[in-house]
Amino acid sequence: MDTEASPLPSTTPRSRALATEAVHAGRDDLAALGLHAPPIDLSTTYPSYDSRGEAERIDAFATTGARLDGPPVYARLDNPTTARFETALARLEGTASAVSFASGMAALTAVLLARASMGLRHVVAVRPLYGCSDHLLGAGLMGTEVTWTDPAGIAGAIRPDTGLVMVETPANPTLAEVDIRALAHSCGSVPLLVDNTFATPVLQRPVEHGARIVLHSATKYLGGHGDVMGGVVACDEEFAARLRQVRFATGGVLHPMAGYLLLRGLSTLPVRVRAASTSAAELCRRLSADPRIARVHYPKVGGAMVSFEVYGDPHRVISAVRLITPAVSLGSVDTLIQHPASISHRIVDEGDRQAAGVGDRLLRMSVGLEDVEDLWADLCQALSDPPARTAAGTVPEWLPTGR
Ligand SMILES: *Cc1c(COP(=O)(O)O)cnc(C)c1O
Repeated sequence: MDTEASPLPSTTPRSRALATEAVHAGRDDLAALGLHAPPIDLSTTYPSYDSRGEAERIDAFATTGARLDGPPVYARLDNPTTARFETALARLEGTASAVSFASGMAALTAVLLARASMGLRHVVAVRPLYGCSDHLLGAGLMGTEVTWTDPAGIAGAIRPDTGLVMVETPANPTLAEVDIRALAHSCGSVPLLVDNTFATPVLQRPVEHGARIVLHSATKYLGGHGDVMGGVVACDEEFAARLRQVRFATGGVLHPMAGYLLLRGLSTLPVRVRAASTSAAELCRRLSADPRIARVHYPKVGGAMVSFEVYGDPHRVISAVRLITPAVSLGSVDTLIQHPASISHRIVDEGDRQAAGVGDRLLRMSVGLEDVEDLWADLCQALSDPPARTAAGTVPEWLPTGR
């Protein structure tokens, strides 16, 4: 088994920089194993000739939720490849543990179930949140009850059965930010969950400011190439143990191939985020000076997301981009643009959406690693008065086809 990282011989490693952790965390044991790339373990089950011993290990997991020593018995308990990703992400976020899931939504579901199982069904949340997170909290699907408030109203919204305070910062899709430290203070003993999908640990480590739980849609920047879905929760070991028990019982596990890809994604996370952020800041500067743009949103913390409100028809911009891909999701090496009111936040009630600042003229762009001049040229042509379309969705013959 290769689940445990063996310590480096007799040195107390000083704390390593983020860029170093990104390429080494979760891989500390590889050299001793005679490997360079992490092994992928696709086993769904693990042989054992000692069923009494297995019974004890299963009992131990059921009571403590602690990771098993040795083989995981069955792949719904644990997997050594996804465990490497968890180890690495915890290291980057500065938490004791991390628990991975099949998607960001599966991760949030497990957090809500873990708190509800302790009788804490009430959630206090600040809008905007990612559309489906808003929906999951508000639609009653999980038996949770939510109080929506602004950061100033948090302390007053907390009740004896409040299990969680949830925020996104920068928030999807307006890039609104909250002061994590001040907010954590208002939470008292209730854990603050920060969805850190947009900032990533490269730009912001919420636990350093008092958050207790950090959530990621790993589908976005952590994977970084638009080809893997996953979610992860970084937290202390006590809550991680509870999450593992929920994951075992409900089955939303991250596939080992996805775990491998996410670990690989982490190794380039700092360079990807920094390079894309430089382009995003430059596009933000140019958009802010452009008379076709009513308003540009770009967070103080930086990052590769830019949102902007157009004076013209946002749907025309979406239909006119050629290099930039008109698609939901974010955090990939290539640039994506979408209309939140139609797509990512469609599932949120229109009144709530508008009140959270997600207007009909807002576009959300995830800036990738293309040359910034090429991106600007594409944005400029898409923003200029477009030619009349022949019919809805039909591209005139003289425009490039093939997409
Ligand atoms: C995409 C997203 C999610 C949901 O993650 P999935 O991996 O799509 O399930 C949650 N939070 C934020 C901020 C997101 O952008």
